[in-house]
Amino acid sequence: MTQTLDNNVTGDPSVATMRAAVVTEFGAPLDITDVELPVPGYGEALVKLETSGICHTDLHAAHGDWPVKPAPPFVPGHEGYGTVVALGEGVQDLAVGDKVGNAWLWSACGSCEFCRTGWETLCESQRNGGYSVDGSFGTYMVVNAAYAARIPEGANPLEVAPILCAGVTVYKGLKVTDTRPGQWVAISGIGGLGHIAVQYARAMGLRVVAVDIDDAKLALAEQLGAEVTVNAKTQEAIAEVQKATGGVHGVLVTAVHPQAFGQAIGLTRRGGTIVFNGLPPGDFPAPIFDIVLKGLTIRGSIVGTRQDMAEALDFYTRGLIHPTVTSAALDDVNEVFERMERGQIDGRVVIDYR
Ligand code: NAD
Ligand code: ZN
Ligand code: ZN
Repeated sequence: MTQTLDNNVTGDPSVATMRAAVVTEFGAPLDITDVELPVPGYGEALVKLETSGICHTDLHAAHGDWPVKPAPPFVPGHEGYGTVVALGEGVQDLAVGDKVGNAWLWSACGSCEFCRTGWETLCESQRNGGYSVDGSFGTYMVVNAAYAARIPEGANPLEVAPILCAGVTVYKGLKVTDTRPGQWVAISGIGGLGHIAVQYARAMGLRVVAVDIDDAKLALAEQLGAEVTVNAKTQEAIAEVQKATGGVHGVLVTAVHPQAFGQAIGLTRRGGTIVFNGLPPGDFPAPIFDIVLKGLTIRGSIVGTRQDMAEALDFYTRGLIHPTVTSAALDDVNEVFERMERGQIDGRVVIDYR
């Protein structure tokens, strides 16, 4: 089966290969090279990629930033979109030709307390795309048929890729701010996640404050419908947000600097909820007095369930979300990572394999 795929670059019919960007050592440039084409196992499908978003999480993964580390060599990428080209055994509900995506939640156990209660994102036996399972920085990838995102017909391959992580993550994150239409939400960090968060927030009827440290990001947020923009580097962010809104009802922190996490407490109105999506390594100071007296809720939120994914994709399909995307080649991954580290990417960079 695999030998007939069209990008067997070795010319040796006994070994099918593909092109991939591989992390061989934390902090080193990715090795863009030929690797063996994976064979889908039981319940899995092989997908020929068309596009893949590049998420800041991929950069954290390549740097080994977090306490639980992936094991090099591995292929990052969890915003991959493509076509099913082969099925492993036991796959009932996917067919060759179907359009699917991988995701951070590559699979979960399906039977633990969290899986049983609608919290599969907290499953302790989950596997993660581009982290504990090879991901979408390659011309092919394997997905778990039960957990792969089903991509609606008519999706734009470049635009839909960022929905698979950035989109579902901020959609779920906004839901758990417990804000209602007409209330204020601050999005802190207007990068890949944040600029999409502005759009989901608007589609949910929320009023948006955008906070970043870069004026170009804030200009994009304003264009996408943020009513208030604040540069946390050059302005007194807390005073400005309090003056403009009286304190926001909810905050979604997608920023990649710990400073934004402590600052969120000051942006919030009494009784408000702060949700952390961003995952920079480190800690932040949390003033106990303010949290108690203001009756604040602070919670983390990690990606979304398969149902959240279907809902996030539905917003996209209905034309409510248009990620700002720039296309790149797989060979550009290291250069994109460098720009990402310097905060120089507007919206999302998406690898185009077509
Ligand atoms: P990105 O690099 O595209 O954007 C980060 C943004 O943060 C940039 O616009 C940058 O200017 C801004 N920023 C930096 N310092 C700031 C500060 N002090 N205040 C306000 N803004 C600041 O990154 P991304 O792909 O959007 O990812 C953001 C973070 O979210 C990463 O840590 C990533 O790992 C994490 N993430 C978490 C989940 C989850 O499920 N919780 C999912 C995806 C990504
Ligand atoms: Zn991601
Ligand atoms: Zn589970």
